[in-house]
Amino acid sequence: MMKRLIIASNNQGKIREFKRMIGSYFDEVLSLKDAGIKADVVEDGTTFYENARKKALEISLLTDAYVMSDDSGLSVDCLDGAPGVYSARFSGEGATDEKNNALLIEKVSAFPEDKRTARYICDLVLAKEGKELLHCEGKCEGVIILEPRGENGFGYDPYFFYPPLGRTFAEIDMDLKNTLSHRGLALIELEKMIGEAIDG
Ligand code: IMP
Repeated sequence: MMKRLIIASNNQGKIREFKRMIGSYFDEVLSLKDAGIKADVVEDGTTFYENARKKALEISLLTDAYVMSDDSGLSVDCLDGAPGVYSARFSGEGATDEKNNALLIEKVSAFPEDKRTARYICDLVLAKEGKELLHCEGKCEGVIILEPRGENGFGYDPYFFYPPLGRTFAEIDMDLKNTLSHRGLALIELEKMIGEAIDG
């Protein structure tokens, strides 16, 4: 039986990363657009897992292929877990990385550094025909700093300081980030488990 995987995303960077890590388990790996699927799944879950699961299950009912979805974001302890599932749209309508970062820094600046602990989280869900086959989660612990450092990465990276390296995620290159980030760790976990999940 031919094994096709649809990645529930049109983000080329993510699709490339999925292909690199698990492409060899499938005969074909497609983006939503390549697969001709237009899906507008409402991300109304309270956790990354709920959102990733909802997206994978809903889309998997529109195709007979395997469907992989992910959801990720930043959770800051002194903000009770915010921005959390609102990471992409933290600053509301017309949110940009710049506006989201400005709001984040405004909110955390009242707290001392030892209270600004945070983590990036990434949840991946693989589904087929409305059933969840696999769930992996990756987490990466850091501290929010008040002055940006570095030019790499995206989103909250210039403010996400990673103590083991003494650098922000915007100060490390993408290959290194892929080995230790929330998404990288979730993908490593996925690679270990996927063979069994899609067998038979
Ligand atoms: P999504 O999972 O692609 O929808 O990402 C949600 C949001 O979380 C992004 O728009 C970013 O704001 C944030 N985010 C997720 N992963 C990262 C990362 O590796 N660096 C910086 N921001 C991230």
